[in-house]
Amino acid sequence: MVKFIFITGGVVSSLGKGITAASIGLLLKSRGLSVIHQKFDPYLNVDPGTMNPYQHGEVYVTDDGAETDLDLGHYERFTGAITNRNCNYTSGRIYDAIIKKERRGDYLGGTVQVVPHVTAEICDSIRSVVAPGIDVVICEIGGTVGDIESLPFLEALRLFRLQEGRNNCFFIHVTLVPFLHKAGEVKTKPTQHSVGRLREIGIIPDMLVCRTEVHLDKDVRSKISLFCNVDEEAVVEAMDVANTIYEVPLEFAAQDIDTVIMDALGLRGGRRNLRPWREYVDHVVGAEKEVEIAIVGKYSELLDAYKSIHEALQHAGAANSARVKIRSVAAEEIEQKGAKQVLAGVGGILVPGGFGVRGVEGKILAVKHARENNIPYFGICYGMHMAVIEFGRNVLGLEGADTTENNSSTKHPVIHLMEEQKRVMNLGGTMRLGAFPADLRKGSLVRKVYGKEQISERHRHRYEFNNDYRERYEDAGMVLSGISPNGMLVEIVELRNHPWFIGVQFHPEFKSRPIDPHPLFREFVAASLKNTKEGTEAHRHKGTEEK
Ligand code: GLN
Repeated sequence: MVKFIFITGGVVSSLGKGITAASIGLLLKSRGLSVIHQKFDPYLNVDPGTMNPYQHGEVYVTDDGAETDLDLGHYERFTGAITNRNCNYTSGRIYDAIIKKERRGDYLGGTVQVVPHVTAEICDSIRSVVAPGIDVVICEIGGTVGDIESLPFLEALRLFRLQEGRNNCFFIHVTLVPFLHKAGEVKTKPTQHSVGRLREIGIIPDMLVCRTEVHLDKDVRSKISLFCNVDEEAVVEAMDVANTIYEVPLEFAAQDIDTVIMDALGLRGGRRNLRPWREYVDHVVGAEKEVEIAIVGKYSELLDAYKSIHEALQHAGAANSARVKIRSVAAEEIEQKGAKQVLAGVGGILVPGGFGVRGVEGKILAVKHARENNIPYFGICYGMHMAVIEFGRNVLGLEGADTTENNSSTKHPVIHLMEEQKRVMNLGGTMRLGAFPADLRKGSLVRKVYGKEQISERHRHRYEFNNDYRERYEDAGMVLSGISPNGMLVEIVELRNHPWFIGVQFHPEFKSRPIDPHPLFREFVAASLKNTKEGTEAHRHKGTEEK
């Protein structure tokens, strides 16, 4: 019998529902249960693939080629489970399915309505992630209770619980308990109101996860329990953590919340084993070295735009006993001030995935700076394209070499549209998406880094290395060290005469896990540390010294 945990949010957004869901997943997994996560996003885009990072942050790509919400990245990083396209539904996707059915005549002349048709479609979507061996589905509802667009989802959950049985569903509401500095006390009223809104819809939460800046004492917990009709042991404190989000599950474990959930759902499991997790957090907290890495992108101010890269760098830092300090650089700033000034002092340079012309020349200058000064360089997708363009222009002397993405009439289209993309008309979901294999060349740096002959990584692109230029690049010292098994597509480039210079057509950041860091990130950070004279002494975090 599969059990379902639903996670809603109240009072304000950005309370960390995703991290809460991921942490609970990890705890249940550590008790021996098999967990799959799912996220519902109430907006009308069919998926986030067509949204810009200001709207949405990073687009997380699954093995099966879905463009999804970045919370799926948290789920995978925390639980190690592999998500798929059914793990993320938007309202747009739900409506899209219904409208297609209506056009086919599937509703047999009936009027199609939010209740019962949209809600039924949502219930079916929840069941779509159930697979043999799964014990628990953890389903997060995006948005905040009270939003108009979340209503059909909440109505569906009420119905779902009725269908599946009260004892098979568990509702967790993540809420804010603010501390009013002037009054010197915490306030429970917003939480009471938020729970009230849920109850109006017919959902009674079984657990409240209370985001707070201060400890909630017993009196506050009893008050919340009493007014919100939730058991006191199910009023959970979620304080801001000091060092890393990976501490959250440890805080939850200390409150035994997995036991509360399992008891309510009648689930049995083994003893919790969080040892590797604890060790990881200790590594992050206790890192003695520090290395600074520049991420040269379009969106220097938007931390969420490169979420998985930030996480992967942190995992890689811990594996090297170092703290990775990220310098977020706007590529356009390099165009104005020059690479030397903007990138002074960094141990390594990373150019992430991207689209379009803005900032491109700055990214190319960053590549040149890394290549000429033996600074470790890691180019991801667009960052690989930039490396190829830079090498073409400045080493091969191919004047005006470019990607046809930005210049369709360039004399040297060293990066160009993939053949299969030429017929594509729609923007949504039409890139080369998901996991594809690559063969690694014997004797190459990547072969050493991965320690294997073939890899599989996740992709999201339309443009590729132009095979007409292969020979010229190879002859001049750019090694095409990863190639698709059919020999057609350059997946990895590296430089022969450089300590660490790798560009990859895929997104390795999606597969890095705290306790299983991605080898490319691990070795990039190692090389960057070396380049910083074994790393500078880390400035110990204030919170660390108290431990
Ligand atoms: N814009 C490039 C392409 O479509 C790179 C995409 C990316 O970096 N994810 O091929």
